[in-house]
Amino acid sequence: MKDRIHSYIESLIKERDLLFQEMESYASLHNVPIMELSGIEVLLQLLRMQEPKRILEIGTAIGYSAMRMAQALPETEIVTIERDDERYDLAIQNITKSEYASQINILKGDALDIYQEVKDFGPYDAIFIDAAKGQYMKFFELYTPLLSTNGYVYTDNVLFKGLVTEETIESKRIRNLVGKIKKYNEWLMNHDHYLTTIVPVGDGLAISKKMSE
Ligand code: SAH
Ligand code: MG
Repeated sequence: MKDRIHSYIESLIKERDLLFQEMESYASLHNVPIMELSGIEVLLQLLRMQEPKRILEIGTAIGYSAMRMAQALPETEIVTIERDDERYDLAIQNITKSEYASQINILKGDALDIYQEVKDFGPYDAIFIDAAKGQYMKFFELYTPLLSTNGYVYTDNVLFKGLVTEETIESKRIRNLVGKIKKYNEWLMNHDHYLTTIVPVGDGLAISKKMSE
């Protein structure tokens, strides 16, 4: 989804700290799908407005978004989940050598398997879903019971490089994934207990506000 407007916005974004720049280079070199710049800037700004005390992130990768959230919100605690061994190790390294180590707790495992552990650290004021696209609905249903009243769920990649608007997709695997994302988006937009809006920044960000009961 990198059009001229996104590139223009990104050209205005201030340079990140060296540590973050290194992580951005590493991610682009090794195809680690960290959040796109324009997307994370919007997410961080929403979080500054929301001021969550505790955030649950599903999908740490190398720790980039977790560390950026920690920097933007110095009082906030972040619990983040990663299932991939190599990325988990890198995230631990990156976070340990940063000044955000005390704010971030990385849990290793498949998010669908470690509910109990995640629950023990909760409740959460914000949940950020940024992991396997085919499982968004499962992550949402499993973890939103841990969301505090007035909490928000932020979901990344809901426009999947614009593929959600494509009529024909050659690859069966991608077609399948796109189908799941579209289903998730429709389900989310019609959810009885959440008010959702989708913002076309980065790879598409859904912002869902929990309605009071
Ligand atoms: N939030 C990160 C990027 C995450 S990329 C950032 O912006 O910096 C998505 C990550 O989710 C990948 O590293 C992948 O290994 C992990 N992942 C995918 N499915 C998962 C699952 N079910 N449980 C835990 N981690 C998962
Ligand atoms: Mg993402």
